[in-house]
Amino acid sequence: MTPTALERAAALPVDALPAYLYDLSALRAHAAAIRAALPARVEFHYAAKANPDPALLTALREYVDGYEVSSGGELAHVRATVPDAPLAFGGPGKTDQELTAALAAGVHRWHVESVAELHRLAARRPAGGLDILLRVNLPVAGRALDAVPLAMGGRPTPFGLDPADLDECLRLLATEPFTGLRLRGFHAHLASGLDALALVALAERIVDWAARKAAGHGLAIDEVNIGGGMAVDYTDPAARFDWTGYGAGLARLLDRHPGLRLRIEPGRAVTAYCGWYATEVLEVKRSHGEPFAVVRGGTHHLRTPATRGHSQPFTVLPVADWQQPWPRGEVAGERVSLCGQLCTPKDALAQRVPVDRLRTGDRVVFGMAGAYAWNISHHDFLMHRQPTFHLIP
Ligand SMILES: *Cc1c(COP(=O)(O)O)cnc(C)c1O
Repeated sequence: MTPTALERAAALPVDALPAYLYDLSALRAHAAAIRAALPARVEFHYAAKANPDPALLTALREYVDGYEVSSGGELAHVRATVPDAPLAFGGPGKTDQELTAALAAGVHRWHVESVAELHRLAARRPAGGLDILLRVNLPVAGRALDAVPLAMGGRPTPFGLDPADLDECLRLLATEPFTGLRLRGFHAHLASGLDALALVALAERIVDWAARKAAGHGLAIDEVNIGGGMAVDYTDPAARFDWTGYGAGLARLLDRHPGLRLRIEPGRAVTAYCGWYATEVLEVKRSHGEPFAVVRGGTHHLRTPATRGHSQPFTVLPVADWQQPWPRGEVAGERVSLCGQLCTPKDALAQRVPVDRLRTGDRVVFGMAGAYAWNISHHDFLMHRQPTFHLIP
């Protein structure tokens, strides 16, 4: 934890728990380091779906070239929060309403994910035309993606164009009704959870494929979006994706493609580390010999460990004060499972994790809760009061 976040979590009144804390200065420093590690010809876009909190979007504005949005809701929200920022609009199923709204709002890049979407866009004859990338589910990744936590491509998925449909898109784009749609390049977000070396290797295969495809069709392609997916290791909160190594690898790749611009759109690896979910232990008990700590709140506030099947890393903030005449619940030098208040065995925040000591009334602060945490959680289940939110400027 950053020292300020630790201090704030300890100082919050108990009635404010559970609470989310976002350290914006830590986020700004992290985003600046990412930007500094990237070559000039790499544009850095933040994938808003990782965490669209307005304070985070605003803090990132100075360091990113734009934002990637995946719905009409995100589009309206990001546009209202950071009005001047370029937006890229993607997503596998876009409604007519979303097409209309996005065309009216003016998006900087449109990620087309199907032949039908191309027809629907062309039929609207967008005023001034539209800069598009064709999102392709490339076969390049193959077995390399078998082990990643979330694979979006290299296998059958609903995302992007099948390579078999791509030639039809290129054929259509060369015909009159499609002339307003300017093909700027390709997009391939194939996986989440790869380290820098694997992601550079994947980028090389995507760019080589794109260059061959463009040459084969006599197309002037000057942009490839290689997606997000930079690894975040929840078993090692101190580890960071190797942005410097990644930037150096992309620089070597760009040296071989002088006219090309790359675009990345990370989400998780940008904001995961700047958020914490702080709460308190309500109960410590044993069940059939095994210790459990029940905390205020649960996975309806912090769904990340439930969706990914991991133990969310946490720090214990011991609370010395105990005013009750009955014995205080305690577990020491043992493995304990931390659960929330929901009446379901799936409400597990951390499972059989060793602790030095954990007592009823102690505070627990879960880390790496700045991405795919609050905004992916099922807040209304069991109708607990929502957490309070605290910004560290
Ligand atoms: C979710 C998503 C991202 C961001 O992925 P992270 O794993 O959060 O970096 C980028 N691009 C697209 C198209 C996505 O769907």
